[in-house]
Order: sequence, then structure tokens, then C-alpha cells
Amino acid sequence: MKRLMAGHAKYLAGQASVGNYAAGRAGRAGGQTPIAAILSCADSRVLPELIFNQGPGDLFVVRVAGNVENADGLASLEYGTEVLGIPLIMVMGHSNCGAVAAAIKVHRENLVLPGHLPGLIDLLLPAVKKAEATKPANLLAAATIENVRATVATIAASDPLIAAAVKAGKVKVVGSVYDVPTGKVTLV
Ligand SMILES: [Zn+2]
Repeated sequence: MKRLMAGHAKYLAGQASVGNYAAGRAGRAGGQTPIAAILSCADSRVLPELIFNQGPGDLFVVRVAGNVENADGLASLEYGTEVLGIPLIMVMGHSNCGAVAAAIKVHRENLVLPGHLPGLIDLLLPAVKKAEATKPANLLAAATIENVRATVATIAASDPLIAAAVKAGKVKVVGSVYDVPTGKVTLV
């Protein structure tokens, strides 16, 4: 977490130092020891390696629209913790998330989206409903935070692997939200 936030401070200050991805390439062929796993949205404006100023081999990134927890994403995180020994999982939501906004629209207007989108929306609806119950001034922001918190709780409690690793103190699961206009990451 210290290294992530130190890298983030550099990013915010416009002093990002990672950029030459060719450097050290051959040395990385033998394996990887990432410092953190990040579950983030697929949104093109949310780039974990840049946001935390980390290079190749540093972050194990799982991306899916709405940064929801699904079976394959969870399996990826299990691989990260069990096989790679990653000590930190961060679920990172972001401002103006199109997936969360779509879930709000579905909830309010009883829309039915095409293709496979309903399956993704179903994973976001509980957070939308929970946030709505608090009557927030900004439902999109509140539902985004709620979705991150719910996803953190689900991952941390997922049996048998990650729940046991959390219990043993081998991995920590935290949540954050990335603010697109300012670039700032806030823990939630
Ligand atoms: Zn998004």
C-alpha cells in the first residue's frame, strides 16, 4: 500500500517515472512478483499502472466493466494471492462509471439492455438499491462507493482461498475510488 500511494503521489504531481517498458524486459521473463492486485473498471480513462506509477511486473490487474466480482475475476485474484503471493487486493471504482450509471437507469426506468449486459447489471443492482435507500444527493457517486465496498466484502469473504488468506494475515482487501477529473484516488 505504501508503494502504491507513493507512486500515486508522483502521478498526481506530474512526476511519473515509469515509462520505458522495454527496460528490464529480459529479466522479467523468469517470473513475476507483483506488489498488488487491482480490480478496476474496463473504462479507458482508468489506468492502474499509470495512476500508481508502477511498471511491468508490479501490478496484477483484473479489469471488468463496473469492477464487479465475477467467477473468472475471482479466480484470477485467487491465482494472484495463492500462487504469486500478492499481499494486497485493491478494488478500484471510479467517478462517472458508465456501468454503474447504466444500472441506475435500469433500476429507475425498468429498461432491459441487449446482449449480455443484463448479467453485468444484475451484479451492480444491489449496490444501487442500497445506496438509493440512503437518499444520497448524488446517487451515481454513492452507488459507486457502495459497489466498491460490497465487492471488497465479497472478495475478502470468498471461500475457500481468499477468506483463509485474509484470516491468516497474508492478504488485505481494500477499496478505493478514482476521480477522473482530478486523478485522485480516495480509499473508501
Ligand atoms: Zn466504469
